[in-house]
Amino acid sequence: MEQAKPRKKFIKNPIQGTKFTIAISSAKGGVGKSTFATNFALALKKSGCKVGLLDADIYGPSLPKLFSINEKPKSEEGKLIPINKFDIQCMSIGFLTDEQTPMIWRGPMVTSAIKTFTQKVDWKDLDFIIVDMPPGTGDTQLTFAQEIKMDGAIIISTPQELALQDVKRGIKMFDKLGTKIIGLIDNMSFFVSEDGKKHEIFGKGGVERTAKEFNKDFLGEIPIYPEVGKYGDQGKPIVESEPEHEISKIYLELAKKINSNFKL
Ligand code: ADP
Repeated sequence: MEQAKPRKKFIKNPIQGTKFTIAISSAKGGVGKSTFATNFALALKKSGCKVGLLDADIYGPSLPKLFSINEKPKSEEGKLIPINKFDIQCMSIGFLTDEQTPMIWRGPMVTSAIKTFTQKVDWKDLDFIIVDMPPGTGDTQLTFAQEIKMDGAIIISTPQELALQDVKRGIKMFDKLGTKIIGLIDNMSFFVSEDGKKHEIFGKGGVERTAKEFNKDFLGEIPIYPEVGKYGDQGKPIVESEPEHEISKIYLELAKKINSNFKL
């Protein structure tokens, strides 16, 4: 009988210069992943950690806009120097290209860009690198999960069925590739209008149900507030602009909770 071929073993290299690497993932686009990644990174910083933010969305980088960064990173001794903004070390393909230039790249080029960002960036003395993943389950996720030592992933979704369907695929991918899922976040859970009424625009409880179904932790809800988008567009996310805002407090609590799971 023919023997099953042994599976190819991947060597997972840690990103140098950080203690922990956490991926922020959403199976679908437009659910608030980059908004979460930036605000969560800022909240971790406010809770006393040294933080790096790696925008790994090669086709649609958001960090230049969300952090209002227009500089190009310098390179020293073959390594890119991250750009320091709000006391966070930042790197994005968007720092190296024009804002409106479409990235028309094939898979192997994406993989090689990810390798550059994880191995050839001079990250320094960090507690956490927060990686803003592109949506979906493509080359970037695969490269990270197979070749880079990751300490966990947080999955963001809206509570809408259409988004949840993809979340389930995302959970299965991380499980299959052996990346620990720290938990799921329900973003844009509801909107409270001026008359105090709660509107569950995308449905209710969908992310929590999915978490239960897959035996994962549910990390909480983040409501819709127009200020979130406004501050993002201004290049200074809400946690930095208005630390006392209800949304900022949710992020700060989350940062404390997640941070306490890691031995710094
Ligand atoms: P993704 O990275 O998943 O594509 P983004 O972070 O770009 O999503 O968010 C998509 C849109 O939703 C943006 O306009 C953003 O400002 C908005 N958004 C995200 N979260 C919230 C929220 N909690 N309240 C209001 N707007 C939000």
